[in-house]
Amino acid sequence: MTKKQKKMLIRICAAAVLLIALHFLPEDFPSFGGTAESGLLRRLVRMMLYLVPYLIIGHDILRKAARGILNGQMLDENFLMAVATVGALAIGLLKTGDYAEAVAVMLFYQIGEWFQSYAVGKSRKNISALMDIRPDFARIESENGPEEVDPEEVPAGSVIIVRPGEKIPIDGIVEEGESSLNTAALTGESVPRDVKPGDEVFSGCISMSGLLRIRTTKEFGESTVSKILELVENASSLKSRSENFISRFARIYTPAVVIGALALAVLPPAVRGLFLGLPPEWGDWIYRALTFLVISCPCALVISIPLTFFAGIGGAGKAGILVKGSVWLEELSRTGTVVFDKTGTLTQGTFEVTAVHHSPLSEEELLEYAALAESSSSHPIAVSIRNACPRPLDLSRVTRVEEISGNGVKVLIDGREVACGNARLMERLGVPCMECHETGTIVHVSIDGAYAGHIVISDREKPEAKEAVAALRAAGVRRIVMLTGDRDAVARQVADRLDLDQVYSDLLPEDKVSMLEELLKSGNPKEILAFAGDGINDAPVLTRADLGIAMGAMGSDAAIEAADIVLMDDNPLKIARAIRISRKCMAIVRQNIVFALAVKAVCLILGALGIANMWLAVFADVGVMVIAVLNAIRALFTGKT
Ligand code: ADP
Ligand code: MG
Repeated sequence: MTKKQKKMLIRICAAAVLLIALHFLPEDFPSFGGTAESGLLRRLVRMMLYLVPYLIIGHDILRKAARGILNGQMLDENFLMAVATVGALAIGLLKTGDYAEAVAVMLFYQIGEWFQSYAVGKSRKNISALMDIRPDFARIESENGPEEVDPEEVPAGSVIIVRPGEKIPIDGIVEEGESSLNTAALTGESVPRDVKPGDEVFSGCISMSGLLRIRTTKEFGESTVSKILELVENASSLKSRSENFISRFARIYTPAVVIGALALAVLPPAVRGLFLGLPPEWGDWIYRALTFLVISCPCALVISIPLTFFAGIGGAGKAGILVKGSVWLEELSRTGTVVFDKTGTLTQGTFEVTAVHHSPLSEEELLEYAALAESSSSHPIAVSIRNACPRPLDLSRVTRVEEISGNGVKVLIDGREVACGNARLMERLGVPCMECHETGTIVHVSIDGAYAGHIVISDREKPEAKEAVAALRAAGVRRIVMLTGDRDAVARQVADRLDLDQVYSDLLPEDKVSMLEELLKSGNPKEILAFAGDGINDAPVLTRADLGIAMGAMGSDAAIEAADIVLMDDNPLKIARAIRISRKCMAIVRQNIVFALAVKAVCLILGALGIANMWLAVFADVGVMVIAVLNAIRALFTGKT
């Protein structure tokens, strides 16, 4: 509980005790005899007494309402509450002598507000606890041994020490030590990852077994943990349609109920008095109008909808799904088409060299040339070829590197021009290339314009890929498409095995964008198209899609920038899970809208008919709000979704 909440609780208790005490006052207190003036005097004195709890509990509402009127933005909840309770006090003074109602309305309203702020605080705390990744310290080496310092103070390039059981505070590269990392806080999965010297490690993981010395590559502010926290903290600023709907709704709704209340106060008594010859009963109708105002207060909606999104984003975050704004959580629930990139998304992106063919050189020599050529590329193919090369690489032999996106690389090695890439690249260079009977991705190599053979490498589907496609279908996605720059034969094989609807192969990165545009055009306009990629060379596609999902984004800033939803690990099953989470969240939003509006409508009608009094009105209001808020909190729990 915050200090503010504690203070409010004290005010609530004080006002409640006073209100109950005043209830025991004899009805004719203070007695001044029986004349009409003395009746008014008594009501006045009693009002003074009731004003004490009223002001204790409601002074801030009155002040806010007054400020609202001065600023010309008067039609808010504070205004409704102030008018209704001041009106009820006035009726009490002039007619009934009953002030308890006005105080009670204010009291219940404030109890509702208190509860709401408590719930918001609670879910905020829950989210930060769920995403328990912010490190408390970084341990550096100093003259007097290891020293714990604020992670913010550690410059990039320092050496930090992480003991078993501790969180890695800053991104870096392992210099010494081996350990098994628990990435659950980042990815939502508790599959341990083993690291050894030379491996990259990300902040937020917990080192479980060994002592690690890590050379930091970034400052704390640029590290994975900070990026994630920033993203989650800013998520609520991108408003969803539902939230915008509520603020538009409130702009029309509040003036409408105020006009309705005015009409209710003025028209019936006027008609009665002027045309029907009945007593106008002004007091009754004004009271009904005030009740109507109390009932109309739209708190439940105004509070519960942003809270639902907030909780939904927190729940998704816990599962390793980072949603950059409520708007994306909402869009996700309308996904009709999912377009996948192949390499690294549906397949593992770790190629294995399976064969070397048609080469005048020895297998080892060809691999060495290829590995040297690929030495500065970050493409998964390049990484695999480097890994497959048995000899240590002398990088000084490589001069002038040119990487041709979607084709391959062209470099100078010992002054000889070496090209390494697909058939398209060979065609560009005018080198006739040999066909290969094996299915797999073929990397052709040419040296000084002469064909030097090819390397067959194959990528495996991710073990979850098939299940992921099935889960997407089960979640209501109608069209699943794959785009790839790879050969048609390889693409078809993957597509058939995974049971995809459409597949487009041999695409350059820019072709992927135009292909995506066509898919966008041919889709159902009510649904959206999501693109899932690894962010390595598909950032333009990620940006162009209605919804960009970057996978395996741990450590890849480019992907995090370009995407709307970021999956911390590279498990494609998470996409279906994200859709289910968003659907649950939207279902809660809809339940709350319907429930709150229905109860409001019933109460408004009862109030206008004079059946509901102010007590019932405020009970209904606070009740609906509490239920709506509790329902909203459900979005935080994504365990089974
Ligand atoms: P994907 O759509 O599968 O992610 P890319 O657009 O990254 O594919 O690449 C398309 C094709 O271009 C690859 O299948 C490969 O044949 C070739 N290619 C791209 N970069 C390289 C490279 N560095 N070395 C060799 N071949 C490459
Ligand atoms: Mg790619």
